[in-house]
Parts: sequence; structure tokens; C-alpha cells
Amino acid sequence: MNFDLTKLIRNNIQELEPYSCARDEFKGRKANVFLDANESPYNQGFNRYPDPLQEELKTRLSTVKHVPVEKIFLGNGSDEAIDLVYRIFCQPGTDNVVAIEPTYGMYRVCAEINDIEYRPVLLDEDYNIDASKLLAATDQHTKVIWVCSPNNPTGNALQRTEIERLLNEFHGIVVVDEAYSDFSQERPFRYDLAQWPNLIVLNTFSKAWGCAALRLGMAFASTDIIALFNKVKYPYNVNQLTQQKASEMLQDLARINQWVSLITQEREHMLLAFNELPICQKVYHTDANFFLAKVNDATSIYNYLIDHAIVVRNRNRVTLCQNCLRITIGTPQENSALLAALRQYKN
Ligand SMILES: *Cc1c(COP(=O)(O)O)cnc(C)c1O
Repeated sequence: MNFDLTKLIRNNIQELEPYSCARDEFKGRKANVFLDANESPYNQGFNRYPDPLQEELKTRLSTVKHVPVEKIFLGNGSDEAIDLVYRIFCQPGTDNVVAIEPTYGMYRVCAEINDIEYRPVLLDEDYNIDASKLLAATDQHTKVIWVCSPNNPTGNALQRTEIERLLNEFHGIVVVDEAYSDFSQERPFRYDLAQWPNLIVLNTFSKAWGCAALRLGMAFASTDIIALFNKVKYPYNVNQLTQQKASEMLQDLARINQWVSLITQEREHMLLAFNELPICQKVYHTDANFFLAKVNDATSIYNYLIDHAIVVRNRNRVTLCQNCLRITIGTPQENSALLAALRQYKN
């Protein structure tokens, strides 16, 4: 493939001399007296700056995710990685990105913040992707194509061969956001990083791993792309408490796997039960921990549920999602409460 990473990078980032923090400069040597970073010697456990590259946590993650340490970036949520993609590759006012539509809203918001033209390309009625349409929307100023699989808010995994076509035929960056891949049977793209130098895969601690409060997102990509993320990120972007708690979570993967299997079992039950409701017009196929359902009046049902202290996501105003609610799979009790309330709903 005809891929030249240096041609994609913004000039100012290419030439950037990154901030060198106190901890970087003595790296690799042994020390026990730290008078280099103007920290307080008091308040042990919190007084020292955290590891800027999160080596311990990445080492553990590497084993779990089967990705080498040097191909992992950790950020303050996936949102940090999304923003960094723009700041590294996209020249404000000149460059553009292409994305599937509908999808996760942060790709567009970050484009707008960074003054980058955002080119949405509609999925078909069943929310499938057509690589040719995305490729046709690119031009010489397109730096990135955004894909999300399983997609949010539609729930379905996109066809792998179409994503592979984007990776093979587009000479810029292809981001595949796999925030929900733990709930899907599809092969994750992070296993195939070696095959595509233009691939960035996003994962998160916020969904299957039950750690949305920690704010910890992952990007997997070539060593060269990860080096760019590390060059541009804030020096101490992942705080000490998050690094510790995340490392702890990884010691008990059996518990996480148990949650995922409970949620996927409960999902099958919910899809069947929801389909039987008088208000339900269609339940869409899902590979995530939520599903999208078309109902007869999404906004009035949304408001009715709020009156019953139940919150779902009203996607009525999203393209191709008219009268759709997006419903997260909760505990069996929470799911039953939703179904019970909806059985009582009168038009
Ligand atoms: C929830 C979600 C994320 C997670 O974002 P964080 O900032 O890591 O919490 C990323 N991508 C998609 C598509 C999501 O739905």
C-alpha cells in the first residue's frame, strides 16, 4: 500500500519539540531522593507526579489485549484520543474527515472544535456500510475516515470486508472505534495492526469494563503513530488514581468476563421481550450492550419513562433514527422495570 505517514502529519506537529518532564530526564536510572520536580515531600501516595507513559498499566494491558506496549496509547477517555487524531493530522481550515452517519457524536464535535470539515456519509436503511461511498467522499485534503463498529447508536457491527476495503484503498488514517467489541462475536481489528500502518483502533474502560468514572481510553496503532500521540498529549494525562484502579481491575478479568456474559444473556431476553410490546415497531440487530428500537412515538414514550424515573436515550432527531430509542442493557431488575413500565403505556 502507498502509505506515507510523514505526509499526513501537520507540519507544526512534525517539527514540535515536545515538553520534557522531570521524570523523563532521569528515566532508566535508580534514585530514591527526588528533588527534581518541585513536588511536596509530604502527603505520600499523592505527592509524586504519575508515570507519564503508564508503563505498569500498559504492560498488564498488553497481555490482556494482545497488543505490544509500544502500540498502546492511554488517554483521558477515548475522547482524548479522538481529539489528538485531529490535532496530529488535520490542518484547521484546510483538511477534512469522512465518517459514517449516524454514529458517535464526538467525531463531529471534535472536528468542529478543531475547525475541520466533517463529511458524513449515510449508512443504508439497515445501518450497513458501503466502502465505495465513503471512498468517493474523500479528496486530497481528507486525512481521516471514522468508522465505529459495533456502531453507536445503531448497535450493529459493520461488515468487516468493507472496513478492510477502506484500510486497503484509503491512503490516510482509518480509525475503527471498537468501544463495544467485547459484546460482539466479530474479530477485533487490534489483532491485525501489523497488516495496516494506517489503522488506529479505539477501546475504552467505560463500557464492558465498568469503569466510565475512571476516564480511561485506549488507542492501538503502529509504533510511529503511538509516538505521535505521546508527543502531543498532556504530559500527565492519566492520573495516579486511575492508573492504580485500572491495574487493579485487570487482576480480576474473570469478574469482567462474567459481567459481559450476564449482559449478553440479558440482551437476548430483552430483545425478545421488547419486540412483544404494543409500542414496538422494530428492534434492530445489536452487537453491543444496548439496542436501538423503533417505537410509535419516541418522544412521548421517552417523557413517559422519565415520569416513571427511567431514563433511556431518545434518538428521534438523529439521521435515519426517527422514532428510535436507544436502550442500554441494565441489571435484570432494571430491565424488568423498563418492560413493566412500557406494558402500562397508553397511547
Ligand atoms: C461510549 C463510547 C466511547 C467511550 O468514550 P470514553 O471517552 O472512553 O468514555 C467511545 N466511542 C464510542 C462509540 C462510544 O459509544
